[in-house]
Amino acid sequence: MDRNIEKRNELLAQKVIKGLGSRNMTGYYAKDREEAKRIALSLIPEGSSVTMGGALSAHEIGLVEAVQTGNYVFIDRAKFENPREAMLAAYDADWFLSSANAMTEDGVLVNIDGNANRVSCIANGPKHVLFIVGMNKVCSDIDGAMKRARNVAAPINAQRFGLNTPCSKTGACQNCKSPDTICCQFLITRFSRHAGRIHVILVNDALGF
Ligand code: SF4
Repeated sequence: MDRNIEKRNELLAQKVIKGLGSRNMTGYYAKDREEAKRIALSLIPEGSSVTMGGALSAHEIGLVEAVQTGNYVFIDRAKFENPREAMLAAYDADWFLSSANAMTEDGVLVNIDGNANRVSCIANGPKHVLFIVGMNKVCSDIDGAMKRARNVAAPINAQRFGLNTPCSKTGACQNCKSPDTICCQFLITRFSRHAGRIHVILVNDALGF
């Protein structure tokens, strides 16, 4: 990566980390994917139960594979026949891995969900939440973060899951109420009441979408 881009990301990440701290959340900066994985694994004690929701970024840094093959209890919700049992198991996990649809320079996280399984676990349930966030997700303010979530992340996710939404055909949000919409819930995480619950690793790379 160009050194000037790296420097910009490093400086911006310090601002984001400061903002997270002011919101009772903890931020870290990783200079590359490998370092992000190292930091993540240093946070999650061996033996912990770990689950995830829509965490492409965690896959991209190799964290999901490391947890699945390591000394952890990985809760794979896809393996549950009963969705309610899967949800209850996720709520009870020690760690929940997630990416963010967008976040702000001052540490606010923005996430959109259809079934709410991801945003509900971020809001409450698992003892810890670990976000893996590429610097491409950092926006100047909440307005920019919401626009990114709705005009970049959501249309790509709608295409990824083969959903019949206007954005999957046009590439931009049409503020739909179609039965397939994935924009049912918007979660803005601006403060955590529980110190040590929410951790965010900012990665000097473009991750997810
Ligand atoms: S509201 Fe509808 S059109 Fe807009 S991003 Fe969500 S699913 Fe797509």
